[in-house]
Amino acid sequence: MLGRKQGDLIGQSIWDYMATPEESKRLRKYLPYLVEVQPQPAPYLAHCARLDGRVVDLEVIWDHQRDQHGRLTGFISVISDVTARRATEERLRLLADVFENTAEGVVITDADANVIETNTAFTEIMGYTREEVLGRNPRLWSSGHHDQQFYRGMWLALEQTGQWRGEIWNRRKNGEVFPEWQHISAVKNEEGILTHYISVFSDISQIKEAQEKLDHLAHHDPLTGLPNRLLLLERLEQAIKNARRHNRMLAVVFIDLDRFKHVNDSLGHAVGDQLLRSVAGRLQESVREIDIVSRIGGDEFVLLLEDIEKTGDVLMLVEKLMHRLEDVHQLDDHDITVTPSIGVCLYPEDGTDTSTLLRHADAAMYRAKEEGRDTFSYYTEELTRDAVERVKLESQLANALRHGEFELYFQPQIDLPSGRMIGMEALVRWHSPELGLVSPARFIPVAENSGVIHAIGRWVLHDACRQGRKWLDEGRNFGYISVNVAGPQIQRGDLPAVVREVLDETGLPAERLELEITEGFIMRHTESTVSQLQALRDLGVSLAIDDFGTGHSSLAYLKQLPAHKLKIDRSFVRDIASDPNDKAIVDAVIAMGRSLGLTVVTEGVETQQQADFLLQAGCRQAQGYLYARPLPAGEIGDLAEQNLYWI
Ligand code: C2E
Ligand code: MG
Ligand code: MG
Repeated sequence: MLGRKQGDLIGQSIWDYMATPEESKRLRKYLPYLVEVQPQPAPYLAHCARLDGRVVDLEVIWDHQRDQHGRLTGFISVISDVTARRATEERLRLLADVFENTAEGVVITDADANVIETNTAFTEIMGYTREEVLGRNPRLWSSGHHDQQFYRGMWLALEQTGQWRGEIWNRRKNGEVFPEWQHISAVKNEEGILTHYISVFSDISQIKEAQEKLDHLAHHDPLTGLPNRLLLLERLEQAIKNARRHNRMLAVVFIDLDRFKHVNDSLGHAVGDQLLRSVAGRLQESVREIDIVSRIGGDEFVLLLEDIEKTGDVLMLVEKLMHRLEDVHQLDDHDITVTPSIGVCLYPEDGTDTSTLLRHADAAMYRAKEEGRDTFSYYTEELTRDAVERVKLESQLANALRHGEFELYFQPQIDLPSGRMIGMEALVRWHSPELGLVSPARFIPVAENSGVIHAIGRWVLHDACRQGRKWLDEGRNFGYISVNVAGPQIQRGDLPAVVREVLDETGLPAERLELEITEGFIMRHTESTVSQLQALRDLGVSLAIDDFGTGHSSLAYLKQLPAHKLKIDRSFVRDIASDPNDKAIVDAVIAMGRSLGLTVVTEGVETQQQADFLLQAGCRQAQGYLYARPLPAGEIGDLAEQNLYWI
């Protein structure tokens, strides 16, 4: 142990073999204690030096030797070299220290992935104590953010390479989901048999947040928080790809504020900044959630509108934007009005790549400026013409009510088994002196956009109820009158009050009135719509969901609606006899209506074949040219004379 020859040791002092003078001192002090006090042999440790200078740890157990008088005559020692054991112990202590004090969470599991050890950082990061997770599977804290494929990939990597590292979302005990950087290794014993998994992870939520913040900064305008040019370009590129794939249109709208420089120069940059923020806010309010509003320079904003169905949608939005932007901006110390110049171009008509689309929208905007600012311009002539026409229609509509140009037509609804009329739908007609008879399908959307729908809607309601009262007074039982209601009338929130007022004014009993709301509108507006409908139902008015089948209803949502009736859209009826898809849809709607306790009516029945089909499918009510076209009130009276339809 000491690397010395036996002969060399004889006669030497043991203190000479101690590794250091201090060690020798320490043990010398210890000696009297051993001699006097300790009765039993006990081990102690000595650091000794070998001849070659290497230090070894020796465990010494010694006992005294005494003569018959009890006098100390010597010591007998049994010495063993514990250097290796000590080193192992030391190393283990060190490892345990690292395990406990590292900032990374560590989880050790057995081969079946049951947790057998965790460290303090694990508890700090995850919120679970060691005891809470011992014996559990780490699935306990999975976030649910990854699919099976992800975990399958992880196990496969562990199997094949013994390692997996990557980003993973887990869930803390308090429910919070956070990103981790995780390294898992499979541990095998000497025989190559898997014994443990060790997972070491760190919480990278802060790093991620910082990354996202940086990313946000790079892609957004700090003044308004809107996407900047960089992000716009990225999104536009993506949008073009989507549009191409799905054969859709998209619009790029370039907006520049007129004389913004003047505001900046005369009122200062602080006011200019406030104005830009106000404009940004209004732009965002005016568009749909999927649309993108970006600020690409001083007073230049670009909107990206995806999923455009028809050019009319863009025209209406642009008009709405003009109105919204021209309202007074109430800033801290100033009330300011600004006018925008707007240029619009469309994919694919006016361009098929980002730079062309932006350039053409910009060019259209410049043309608007040349035309005297406060206006909009479309890149193509055709759109410009449409837009001009629309504006004309809007101004003519505004006067139509005053000039008494509207008339209600009525179309009977039929009980299929008996062929009798059970009610009728009121459909508005516009006799325009300039345009002739204009279809509601054309002017109602314009009226909705300009706000004149509220006046028209009230007139329709009033006239329908007035006519109903008149028929009742004449002793004619028409059943009920169904009146179409436009989305904005509900959105404004006063429809129940208006309906009650009109019923009071005209004296029509509430149960004689039905309101039709399109499925498309109902689906887009969830919370407030339901309470309005409930209020209407409480008045005693019935509710029908119009154009059903076109609005992608969810059954769960339908169940919450206080509706009485579904009107299957006529697009499904047209080919019902020949198109199995249409037939399947109609069958499904009828079944669904039945299970929800709703009456089902089909619109647009034109042939006896369709009617037979529907009756067979279990639909009892219908409306369509087969029975009668929409007719003026007087001619409905004639039907009555023929005693054809009245109840
Ligand atoms: P809607 O409520 O779905 O009305 C049914 C439409 O189908 C009416 O068109 C009607 O004339 C037409 N129709 C009825 N039977 C047949 C048929 O057998 N074959 C075909 N091809 N068509 C049939 P209309 O009168 O042109 O009205 C169009 C839409 O305008 C209405 O669709 C409704 O959404 C809206 N509308 C009409 N009047 C008003 C109103 O007073 N207020 C509101 N907000 N919207 C109205
Ligand atoms: Mg209708
Ligand atoms: Mg309809």
